[in-house]
Amino acid sequence: PNIKENMNIVIVGHVDHGKSTIIGRLLADTNSLPQGKLEQVKETCRRNAKPFEYAFLLDALKDEQAQGITIDAARVFFKTQKRKYIIIDAPGHIEFLKNMVTGAARAEAALLVIDAKEGVRENSKRHGYLLSMLGIKQVVVLINKMDLVDYKQERYEEIVEEYQAFLAEIGVEAESFIPISGFMGENIASPSDKMPWYQGSTVLEKLDALENKEDIENQVFRMPVQGIYKFTANGDDRRIVAGTIDTGKVKIGDEITFYPSGKKSKVKSIERFHASSMKEGLAGSATGFTLEEQIYITRGELACITGETKPEVSTKIKTKLFWLGKEDLNGERDYYLKIGTQKVKAKLEEVVTVLDASTLAKTERQYVQRHEVAEVILKLEKAIAFDKAQNSTETSRFVLIDNYEISGGGIIVDSLENQEDWL
Ligand code: GDP
Repeated sequence: PNIKENMNIVIVGHVDHGKSTIIGRLLADTNSLPQGKLEQVKETCRRNAKPFEYAFLLDALKDEQAQGITIDAARVFFKTQKRKYIIIDAPGHIEFLKNMVTGAARAEAALLVIDAKEGVRENSKRHGYLLSMLGIKQVVVLINKMDLVDYKQERYEEIVEEYQAFLAEIGVEAESFIPISGFMGENIASPSDKMPWYQGSTVLEKLDALENKEDIENQVFRMPVQGIYKFTANGDDRRIVAGTIDTGKVKIGDEITFYPSGKKSKVKSIERFHASSMKEGLAGSATGFTLEEQIYITRGELACITGETKPEVSTKIKTKLFWLGKEDLNGERDYYLKIGTQKVKAKLEEVVTVLDASTLAKTERQYVQRHEVAEVILKLEKAIAFDKAQNSTETSRFVLIDNYEISGGGIIVDSLENQEDWL
């Protein structure tokens, strides 16, 4: 599949502000539902004497997916004339972070939903903050349930003003604001005649106008090593280094340096699952390659091309993170940090600043509570390879695990104990 024709989008917002309803609408209005699905769900509602809701469509689709395979987040698809969209429905903060960081479904754009009647809530702000922290720059704000406020322009503008002020404080500019009704289908796929005061695009028009993934293929090559697989071809024992390319591309003959080990070898062949052999591996695709020499590398290393910008290799990092743990993030406990395919023990060494992600109020103290954003210094048991967020959002994202659970995540902003010397 040509990655240029796909766009991953994430939909966020306070609970009940209308995410599922909007997704259901988008699917129905672009004829992207499986044959008969809409009728089937309507029939079920009729039989149970329940009014039909577009949100039920999403539930029905999720149930089907869940029966097949285990999934972290539901992924639903819809198509416009321009491209295919993949909506990553991340029901909560944790799922969202997990998806963004593990690379399973990195979003290139976000729809942020605010209920016109209820107005801006803490989560509307937290989600906005999280999107900006994780480097998702294309944010379209949907002011939903306009039908509940009689499609009034004043109410819409009031919310836009309040939310825009918040975004300005965190240095973000929204792509646009759109007044909609997910329930009634206003301004989703076709312009609403209930809001003649609004002259802007519909949701679909706006999505189609967004830019595709920043040219990740033209960045430096980065591939976290997922595993080494042995196989025999023509009586030859070969080892494939497999992973998903985060950025850049690799071709036969390139010399790869693996970090943090610093081991090197040239690419002998490139393999892709299904397509047996190819000349190039591109960003976003699951790839494997064989090497000229038999070097011993392991899961977790970061494959880079020798001569391109080197990654950072460090045992002490400065990070910006969002904490979601039941227990505070503090200096006493041991955590695990996961980045790419690497996993190392980590300790909190210092809290530089703590910020409430919705009020933006700052506090000075040496622990971080649930729902706070903080700049902290983490000390790692072993060196990891990564990039600073300012250089690459893809390879700077991490999650922190406390007692087997993902409890926070964020980006690495600086490398404090550079280990490059010993490479
Ligand atoms: P989610 O939790 O964000 O996914 O929200 P849902 O999509 O489940 O919607 C929550 C409730 O709000 C449901 O009862 C919906 O029918 C209702 N709702 C969603 N969008 C609209 C809308 O545009 N207008 C009205 N009146 N109700 C809506």
